[in-house]
Amino acid sequence: MDDASTTPGTTAQHSPHGPASPALSPATVAVAAGRPPRVSGGPVNPPVVLSSTYVSAGVPSPDEKLYTRAGTETWEPFEDAIAQLEGASQSGVVFASGMAAIASVLAMVPDGGTVVVPRHAYQVTLGFVDDMAERHRVTVRRVDIADTEASVAAFAGADLVWVESPTNPMLEVADLPVLIDAAHRAGALVAVDNTFATPLVQRPLESGADLVVHSVTKYLAGHSDVVLGAVVTSSEHLERSVRAYRTLHGAIAGPWEVWLALRGLRTLALRVERAQANAAEIAHRLSGHPSVAEVRHPSLPDDPGHEVATRVMDGYGAIIGLRPVGGVEAADAVVDALALWVPATSLGGVESSLERRRRFTTESPTVPEDLLRMSVGIEDVEDLWADLDQALRRVTGA
Ligand SMILES: *Cc1c(COP(=O)(O)O)cnc(C)c1O
Repeated sequence: MDDASTTPGTTAQHSPHGPASPALSPATVAVAAGRPPRVSGGPVNPPVVLSSTYVSAGVPSPDEKLYTRAGTETWEPFEDAIAQLEGASQSGVVFASGMAAIASVLAMVPDGGTVVVPRHAYQVTLGFVDDMAERHRVTVRRVDIADTEASVAAFAGADLVWVESPTNPMLEVADLPVLIDAAHRAGALVAVDNTFATPLVQRPLESGADLVVHSVTKYLAGHSDVVLGAVVTSSEHLERSVRAYRTLHGAIAGPWEVWLALRGLRTLALRVERAQANAAEIAHRLSGHPSVAEVRHPSLPDDPGHEVATRVMDGYGAIIGLRPVGGVEAADAVVDALALWVPATSLGGVESSLERRRRFTTESPTVPEDLLRMSVGIEDVEDLWADLDQALRRVTGA
C-alpha cells in the first residue's frame, strides 16, 4: 500500500485491491476497500481461496506465496480494508482472535521491561500481562486511564503503554492525543485497543499511536458469528514484527472467518451509527429512571468521560454501563426478566446483549458487583426500551 497523505477522518490511499481513491469518508471506505481489480467479467467480491499450499518452482521470490500460515490472498482484502479504515500506511495483520493479535503486540516488550495498562480493561488482556509478570517476564503498572496526570506519571521508564478507550467495562475515556504524546516523550511504544470505539469513532494512529489492535469478533465483523483479531500500524518495522510473530506462533485466521468479517465490515457505518444512536437514547432515558442507581455512557452530559469523549472521539460508542437499584440480586433479576435483550458475553453484534461482568471471578475487583455491561444493537429503539423498562420496573417495583 502506498503511503499517501491523510487528513483526519479521511483516507487517501492506493489499494492493491481497488483503484486509488480520493479522500473518502470511513463509511465509504468500509464499503469500497478490499475489492478485486475492476475487470470486465470479474467478481465484485474477493474470492475465498481454499488451499493450504501454493505451486512453487525453484527458489522462491520474496513476494511469492508458499504456504498459508505465512500469507494467503484470502486475508489481504480484509487487511487492506482495516488499514484504510484506521488511516494506516501499512497493511493490517489479521489474527485468529483478538487475543492472538494482542499477544503479538505484548511480545514486543523486552524481557525485564515495563508495561503500563489501564486498571480497567478487557479482563483477558489484564490476565495476559499478569501472567507475564508472574513469570518475571515484565513489570506491570496499572493506571486509571481517565486520570491523565496520574497515567502520565506512570509512563517513566515504560516500554509499552497499553490503552483501551472507552474501557471495558467501566467506559472510562482516555485523552488519547495527550497520553500518546506523553508516552512517546517517555520513550514508550503506544498500543490502543480500539475494539469499543471502532475506526469510525476513533482513529488512534492519527493521534500518533504506534499500534492499534481489534477484536474483530465485535463490531468489525458485527454479527456474533466469528472470532477474529487484527493489528494495524503505520510502521513498516512494526508490521514486519507482527507478521513474523504470526507466522512463528501460527495463530492464523481461517479463510471463512476473514470472508465473514469483510462481509460484516461492509455495513459497519450503518450498524455503528444506529447502535450509537440507540445507546445515546437509552442512556438518556435510563438516567432519569426510578429503577436506576447509576448509568454510564459518554454521551451523557454529566458522565465523567463526556468532555474528553466530545473532544477526542467522533461519537460515544454503543456500550452502556448500568447499575440498577437493588444491587447484585436486582442486576441478575433484570437480566432474567428481559425478553429481547440477549443474556450473553461479548458485544458489538447487531443484537442487543448484556451481562453482569462480575459474574466472572476474573473481572477486576474495582468493577462494581452490580454493573451490567450493555451492548446496544441495531433493533428499533422503542422495542429495546419497552423490554428494558418493563424488566427494570418489575424487578425494582418502581
Ligand atoms: C473481546 C475483546 C478482546 C478479545 O478479543 P477476542 O476476539 O475475544 O480474542 C480484546 N479487547 C476487547 C476490548 C474486547 O472486547
